[in-house]
Amino acid sequence: MAFDCDLFVIGAGSGGVRAARVAAGHGAKVVVAEAFRVGGTCVIRGCVPKKLLVYASRFADDFAAAAGFGWTVEPPRFDWPTLVDAKNGEIARLSAAYRAGLDQAGAALIEERATVVDRHTLRLSGGRTISARHILVATGARPEPPARFPGLEFAITSNEIFDLPAFPRRLLVVGGGYIAVEFACLFAKLGAEVTQVMRADNVLRGFDEDMRAGLRDELGRAGVRLRFGALPTRFERRGEALLATLSDGGALTVDQALVATGRRPNTAGLGLEAAGVALDAAGAVAVDDRSTSNVASIHAVGDVTNRINLTPVAIREGQALADHLFGGGKGVVDHRDVASAVFATPEIGAVGLTEAEAQQCFEAVDVYLANFRPMKATLGGGAERTIMKLVVDAGSDRVVGVHILAREAAEMIQVAAIAIKMGATKADFDATMALHPTAAEELVTMKAPTRRHRRAAS
Ligand code: FAD
Repeated sequence: MAFDCDLFVIGAGSGGVRAARVAAGHGAKVVVAEAFRVGGTCVIRGCVPKKLLVYASRFADDFAAAAGFGWTVEPPRFDWPTLVDAKNGEIARLSAAYRAGLDQAGAALIEERATVVDRHTLRLSGGRTISARHILVATGARPEPPARFPGLEFAITSNEIFDLPAFPRRLLVVGGGYIAVEFACLFAKLGAEVTQVMRADNVLRGFDEDMRAGLRDELGRAGVRLRFGALPTRFERRGEALLATLSDGGALTVDQALVATGRRPNTAGLGLEAAGVALDAAGAVAVDDRSTSNVASIHAVGDVTNRINLTPVAIREGQALADHLFGGGKGVVDHRDVASAVFATPEIGAVGLTEAEAQQCFEAVDVYLANFRPMKATLGGGAERTIMKLVVDAGSDRVVGVHILAREAAEMIQVAAIAIKMGATKADFDATMALHPTAAEELVTMKAPTRRHRRAAS
């Protein structure tokens, strides 16, 4: 049977663009449809603009610390529109680079919304239909609050916060996940009065408890007012401001409310059910370990599959799928020991198991913990702490988890992840010479376990 193309990719984000470029490189005829902007969430309204805002926020601490190192700094002033303009310039440059990458690889780009008609046919919003031997769903995810309540329409999501026309002097952040934490921290450092509310009793469910506790303290130091066990029940307009009523009986008036309580795979209205594609309970495309759905010609990578929702994972899945379909590759991605970060200030970097998870997996677990004041603070001032943690399977001596709360923790954990992936033991860490003076040297100089867990014999 002849098709218009070998691969039709829905969504020009991290996963889709990589799959399209690699498939075209293998000689496949590739068409990509994008409904919004080439580059997807990461480039347009995720990782990249977020990190640029984080950089901007950190100057506040540097200006404050400078006096301790002999500098005289004029009272600094921050201008939000200048930052938004600069950020927009950079994401336009990156989006153009993604577009050029597709073009150079020979993949055709159609800037329209695409939906699936059947297992080999797509319809574009302009009305055209296209047939494809393979369809790749790489549509990502979107912010979606789990509960609706009166006035929710007055709130914004991470999609809107990057382009607010005015800096929110008073900001309510709803949610305790990494996106909520990052925005709460960076806006507090940029000078906003930030209140963060969440249902849970601490931030960052799923992260190691020592990291959660450490970052909670740092958020407090950054000026974020944390309210646990509370969620908004109503937003009302009060002129330009918003009145938020909370489930704990409290109320507060803010300029903006950012709801960052959940994201949902982008499958609604895509036509997948009609094509017979199975979705899971969260609405994600259910795929096998080669990113293929229950329909052999329809595949999915990235956030729409709700496996590990990070850009490098989407890229790796897109690459593996394209190599598998058109280059003879195996197509399987190893989702174990994926490093992740929370770009608060200080950052969290994590790879492998938390202390609690390791206790579930192993009979005997040793935990090495260092908690200290970073060297820069000795002259720069401030009460910030650095926490380093190794989680070790005492039976094999293998380091099964590394967790860091520190400035540049993300940079450190990327390197530590190589050791974890290689199966490094605590003895390997100990055999590594320290690099002084750094924070990271603590990772190779922790001698005695701080905590030892031994499973009781049953
Ligand atoms: P996306 O990049 O979301 O791309 C999907 C594309 O499909 C979009 O461009 C969309 O417009 C398009 N599309 C959807 N439906 C259709 C349709 N029917 N027709 C045509 N096009 C369609 N990850 C990290 O690794 N590090 C971070 O620091 C990080 N920070 C983040 C911060 C925020 C605020 C957010 C929201 C996310 C962050 N992420 C981060 C997650 C990361 O952005 C995603 O994991 C990644 O973008 C997923 O890539 P994807 O290819 O699956 O989807």
